[in-house]
Amino acid sequence: MSQTYEVIEHRHDVVVVGAGGAGLRATRGLAQAGLSTACVTKVFPTRSHTVAAQGGVSAALGNMGDDDWRWHAYDTIKGSDWLGDQDAIEYMCREAIPSVIELEHDGVPFSRTEEGKIYQRPFGGMTTHYGEGTAQRTCAAADRTGHAMLHALYQQALKYKADFFIEYFAIDLIMDDEGVCRGVWAWDLSEGTLHRFRAHQVILATGGYGRTYFSCTSAHTCTGDGGGMVLRAGLPLQDMEFVQFHPTGIYGAGCLITEGVRGEGGYLTNSEGERFMERYAPNAKDLASRDVVSRSMTIEIREGRGVGPKADHIHLHLEHLGAEVINERLPGIAETARIFSGVDVTREPIPVLPTVHYNMGGIPANYHGEVLTLRDGDPDAVVPGLMAVGEAACVSVHGANRLGSNSLLDLVVFGRAVAHRCVETIKPGASHKSLPADVDDKMLSRFDALRNASGSRPTAGIRDDMQHTMQNFAAVFRTGDTLQEGLDKIKDVVGSFDEVDVSDRSLVWNSDLVETLELDNMLGQALVTMRSAHNRQESRGAHAREDFADRDDENWMKHTLAWRDGQDVTIDYRPVHMTTMTDDMEVIPPKKRTY
Ligand SMILES: Cc1cc2nc3c(=O)[nH]c(=O)nc-3n(C[C@H](O)[C@H](O)[C@H](O)COP(=O)(O)OP(=O)(O)OC[C@H]3O[C@@H](n4cnc5c(N)ncnc54)[C@H](O)[C@@H]3O)c2cc1C
Repeated sequence: MSQTYEVIEHRHDVVVVGAGGAGLRATRGLAQAGLSTACVTKVFPTRSHTVAAQGGVSAALGNMGDDDWRWHAYDTIKGSDWLGDQDAIEYMCREAIPSVIELEHDGVPFSRTEEGKIYQRPFGGMTTHYGEGTAQRTCAAADRTGHAMLHALYQQALKYKADFFIEYFAIDLIMDDEGVCRGVWAWDLSEGTLHRFRAHQVILATGGYGRTYFSCTSAHTCTGDGGGMVLRAGLPLQDMEFVQFHPTGIYGAGCLITEGVRGEGGYLTNSEGERFMERYAPNAKDLASRDVVSRSMTIEIREGRGVGPKADHIHLHLEHLGAEVINERLPGIAETARIFSGVDVTREPIPVLPTVHYNMGGIPANYHGEVLTLRDGDPDAVVPGLMAVGEAACVSVHGANRLGSNSLLDLVVFGRAVAHRCVETIKPGASHKSLPADVDDKMLSRFDALRNASGSRPTAGIRDDMQHTMQNFAAVFRTGDTLQEGLDKIKDVVGSFDEVDVSDRSLVWNSDLVETLELDNMLGQALVTMRSAHNRQESRGAHAREDFADRDDENWMKHTLAWRDGQDVTIDYRPVHMTTMTDDMEVIPPKKRTY
């Protein structure tokens, strides 16, 4: 090692890694309950990607027409293409209602109806009466719902005196010999010091890994650091082949145009001016679920009906809504479209393209947020001391395809659930078990080696290779051959990390090293994503195999588990939970998914 490092120790009942919607909702609940809580975050809390969420958060409040949480559960199960765990979905849809009301009481400034109730807009795949009508279920604060939520939750967490460690980069989990998580290591980016956070529970709320792709709607910080730590701890990730493409990323820039635009009456056209979604989804049309719309757009472009000089994108219209509706309901969209595509949405359509948006896969967890692994044949074995929430986790409520506005919901419902679970299981102030004297060694040698890496490949070059490989070979449509080619290529990219070059050796604000640690986290997830996609020989939700065009419930109604060992990936499975939690809801048996 190039130098000796001092590691500063902190002790808390719980450490939350991440201060997006999931991390902040967990932190708020834990601190309110009187557990000493540290929240460690690499960016300032209100800069987390949740800030960019536009459309809203779902809950069957029924403020704007009939609704029932069972219909919400039905839509979510169908949306998941029957890969979602039905007990967890029941929990989420039922708890949606009190969770959103709590947000309102926490100070989220929701848009209002005439009577002063929370305003709700329709979103893709959301129906009433088990698929009959259109539900208005998505609670919105104009088109800045995530922003409003983050600010309210951060203020609440401060009110309850949570300890924030801001601009601290979590490096790895502290795992003991018995497989129990005892805490997490982090690097204070501004002071350049290393820290050991001891806790009875570590809650990973680190968000998605969208940045493994070249074009995505998520922030540059969405590098899946929690998933990277889990893979290095020898634990599996689940359902990583399911990557959601959002139909309406701005062509070129990748910025998101919310589904709320189509919820408010916007629609897509091809080069012939045709509203082609009427052909693909006669009932739901432009509000079919995201995988269906993304595939339809891709087929239109492939068959030569794309718009623009290269016929390589699609038009999204909202001119007909009129300036008044746009200014009141979609002001942020008008601004984004102006800045990133130079379009005045009151006069002309926005050029759009399916863009990577969300990771259905992640760290396997049950509906308490406890992390799961396969142990001695038990597919629901809990990893003691470790929890996961938000986009980093795979509960699995979204299965093979997430419905719009169900992610913000997942953040608050399960952020709340982990806090409840910790209150049940942790005695405030309980003492921490001692750790072996050499506990820091492995983490320090990895950190030091990367800090002093002097190979031939700058971090940015390897990242570029990874992003293009994912973009080209784990795309909207997949085949065995392209996935095999993608797998060979991504293994080479993973191998090239041995040659990484870090030019900045300092410990203070070393963004070069931060990006290298992030790249290492992303590479593991890119590899297991490609391998899991190659392995799954069927089409389900967001995973569309041209060589296996149908869903195959007999062989594939199961969750993928993937462990990483260098460039190799080991695959196993967990059964899908086809049971409900209570008798208040019936199991929804699989059927063909049409919209
Ligand atoms: C543009 C956009 C619009 C969206 N709109 C909607 C919508 O309208 N409705 C909806 O339901 N969903 C929407 N989604 C999806 C949803 O917003 C995200 O899935 C969700 O916000 C993720 O929240 P999170 O709390 O899991 O993670 P994030 O908000 O991504 O936060 C991650 C946190 O982890 C911290 N972190 C990460 N790594 C480390 C590390 N190594 N050390 C320390 N801290 C770390 C970060 O600092 C950050 O605080 C949208 C997504 C995007 C990209």
